[in-house]
Amino acid sequence: MTQDYRNWPRPLVLLKDRGDGRYDGEPITQREHGLQAAALAVQAGAPDSWVLAALLHDLGHLLSRSAQDATRRGIDLQHERSGANTLKHWFGPEVSEPVRLHVEAKRYLARDPEYKAALSAESQRSLKLQGGAMNAEEASQFEANPAAQAALALRKWDDEAKVEGLKVPSVASYVPLAQRLVIRD
Ligand code: FE
Repeated sequence: MTQDYRNWPRPLVLLKDRGDGRYDGEPITQREHGLQAAALAVQAGAPDSWVLAALLHDLGHLLSRSAQDATRRGIDLQHERSGANTLKHWFGPEVSEPVRLHVEAKRYLARDPEYKAALSAESQRSLKLQGGAMNAEEASQFEANPAAQAALALRKWDDEAKVEGLKVPSVASYVPLAQRLVIRD
């Protein structure tokens, strides 16, 4: 199948072209990580907007070349913000806002010691940089956000999307879904 990338929404082109970098300290690439998260969303029967949010949730890591190993160096680049702000130009809040909240969702879930203990070493390290587990006030603010449920679902897929060598559908397979969700003015 010939691919005409000019018809692809740009964030998907970025994932295709720039996704070769290692996913922070894990045995997979950024592209594999996004693809695995999206595949888990599909398996869960999630709405298209959640699938796309899962696919592109770490877009912020691809926007900055210096993102590789940032947490190792003790830097929080707030990739959730840069990613969501870019996605906002292409898709509605049902895609961009769960992405913006996916780190907050980890901080929310980390109130549960079992969740926290099950995180990968790298994820525990970044959690510290991101402010650690939420307090009660932060948690109730988080719950009031309309994108909270999507962000919590996304977070669980994010945490699981770290399997070495797993075969999952390609970036190209999500192009029609993404094209349907592009904002037209
Ligand atoms: Fe992730």
